[in-house]
Amino acid sequence: MAPRYALAKRKAQQLLEQAGITKPPVRVESLAKHVGARIRYEPFSGEGLSGMAYRQPDGKLFIGVNALHPRNRRRFTIAHEIAHLVLHQQEDLHIDEAFTINLRSDLSSLAVDEKEIEANQFAAELLMPAAWLIDDVQDRQIDLESDGTAIEELAKKYQVSVQAMTIRLSSLGAARG
Ligand SMILES: [Zn+2]
Repeated sequence: MAPRYALAKRKAQQLLEQAGITKPPVRVESLAKHVGARIRYEPFSGEGLSGMAYRQPDGKLFIGVNALHPRNRRRFTIAHEIAHLVLHQQEDLHIDEAFTINLRSDLSSLAVDEKEIEANQFAAELLMPAAWLIDDVQDRQIDLESDGTAIEELAKKYQVSVQAMTIRLSSLGAARG
């Protein structure tokens, strides 16, 4: 099965719209609530475990997040786990090692499988919606080599890591990667 990029993107946009979120930083915790999921922050032993999405037999939804990870990383993990709950409902338990949450979702050689590619695509669109970013960047080209400050400011505004913002801008063609 090929990754459903358009579906992942559309589902993220719909969720933002339904929750009435129109500007950054996206309150990802309230979006988890919006899809009916409770978040549990756990100090998972071993840095390698990022998070999990869990559907109980009674239908209750939970997202587990590694409390030991930095805040921006936890935000990306939550967005990624929301994607699994929304897009992959046939799965009761999904566990994400750090390597499956790959920011560079468009490189299929690095992503593990199509579910992960879809979840990463969803998370990127949820936290850094293309339309908002393009507005922010307008028509000026940000040079990743020399314009570190501009990217840092955007990362701060969207509450994502500088790495995530750099990759996102590059994949949107708003910056040279
Ligand atoms: Zn995943």
